[in-house]
Amino acid sequence: MSNSALFYQAGVTLPLVSHGKGIYLWDTQGKRYIDACSGAITCSLGHQHPSVTAAMKAQLDKVAFSYRTQFESQVAVDLGDVMVALTEDRLQRVFLVGSGSEAVESAMKLARQYFYVRGETQRKHFVSLRPSYHGSTLGALGLTGYQPLEQPFEDLLIPSIKVPSPDFYRYTEVDISTHVTRLLQQTEAAMAAAPEGSIAAFVLEPVGGASTGARMLNREYLQGIRALCDRFGCLLIMDEVLSGIGRTGEWFAWQHWGICPDILALAKGMGAGYYPVAAIMAKADLVDTVQSAGGFMHGHTYAGNPLACATGLAVIQAMQDENILDNVREQGRYLRECLEQMKVRYPVIGDVRGIGFLQGVELVQPDAGKTPFPASFNAFSRITECAKKRGLLIYPRRCLNGMAGDHFLVTPPLITTRVELDEMMECLDQALKDFSQQL
Ligand code: PMP
Repeated sequence: MSNSALFYQAGVTLPLVSHGKGIYLWDTQGKRYIDACSGAITCSLGHQHPSVTAAMKAQLDKVAFSYRTQFESQVAVDLGDVMVALTEDRLQRVFLVGSGSEAVESAMKLARQYFYVRGETQRKHFVSLRPSYHGSTLGALGLTGYQPLEQPFEDLLIPSIKVPSPDFYRYTEVDISTHVTRLLQQTEAAMAAAPEGSIAAFVLEPVGGASTGARMLNREYLQGIRALCDRFGCLLIMDEVLSGIGRTGEWFAWQHWGICPDILALAKGMGAGYYPVAAIMAKADLVDTVQSAGGFMHGHTYAGNPLACATGLAVIQAMQDENILDNVREQGRYLRECLEQMKVRYPVIGDVRGIGFLQGVELVQPDAGKTPFPASFNAFSRITECAKKRGLLIYPRRCLNGMAGDHFLVTPPLITTRVELDEMMECLDQALKDFSQQL
């Protein structure tokens, strides 16, 4: 146990970080790690990206912080414009914040205030999926369907109506379409059971992250949810804190299906680990309704400061200059192929899912159908340790009773080359071998 005053994780001793470069990190003992999960699916451009650090240094030499109600900042204006262009003008308004949880809370409050100013004050309930992850603050955690995190705070949370997430691995119906139809019917019934006109928004991750191991929703399901939102007069909020900004091979995951939300939450990849910068984007008519009634009653001190915006702008610029989306599409396909091949070689891999550089691997007991490891086996932490010993960082999650087995994410920096992927896969192969030998 470390003697540090910091208390992030119980009972773990972590290496001290020394420095990072590209997709690699080093600890102070000189050990090198390949970052196969972009930290927390954040460091999309790897470490020490020259144009991002240069833009940040240049901004620091001008002004790091100015308050958004006292000064307009050109970098903030430019960031807003660039982001709207990335949505092909389908989401025309941007509100900057500092983290994913703040973005989700902001989306909830914008939805609520929108209905409030329209006189629909009873519209205050949210619907969300189980399992899901939307953040750690009380509102965002209220949406979250992830029991271990909810439990100690259950009676403090803003409760949401939880409906089951599609499960394209363990569904029991004859086919996926029947599975989706049943879930949509179940969801419709849950929404209809709420007092009439009381639902403000449906919140979902189009491609899940840690809670589901990169479970990707499909067109049929998303179309069904969009139709239910329209039927019940509520908004559709997509939480792309993790899947947004190029991670899946499109700027935003919703672009794979063309099903645009009313409000979009973004974070992680926006600042790419260089500075906290996050946002919500929303449709103009929605925001303008709120603005014309006095403005959004919400905000955080650090939101939209010049250093944050210079970082966000430089990240998007670098992604455009380096054709990062093409790399994610092409190398993402290769990454998927490699993981599928490992699934054949290692019976502990039950499922590989996701898209682009957002891939999830679910672990199961070998030759036992889709049976997860018992929770007490701590497969998620064992595989992480095996990977770390081989100098590889992956992003693990423990099993969720009856909903998902232990899994880990493989979410490399979006700059990762084919040669670097091969190196990553070699380490993962070794880690899976070591893990399998523990059984
Ligand atoms: N939503 C999703 C989908 C996330 O993956 C996360 C972070 N893992 C959050 C919200 C919360 O973001 P943050 O940790 O920056 O508050």
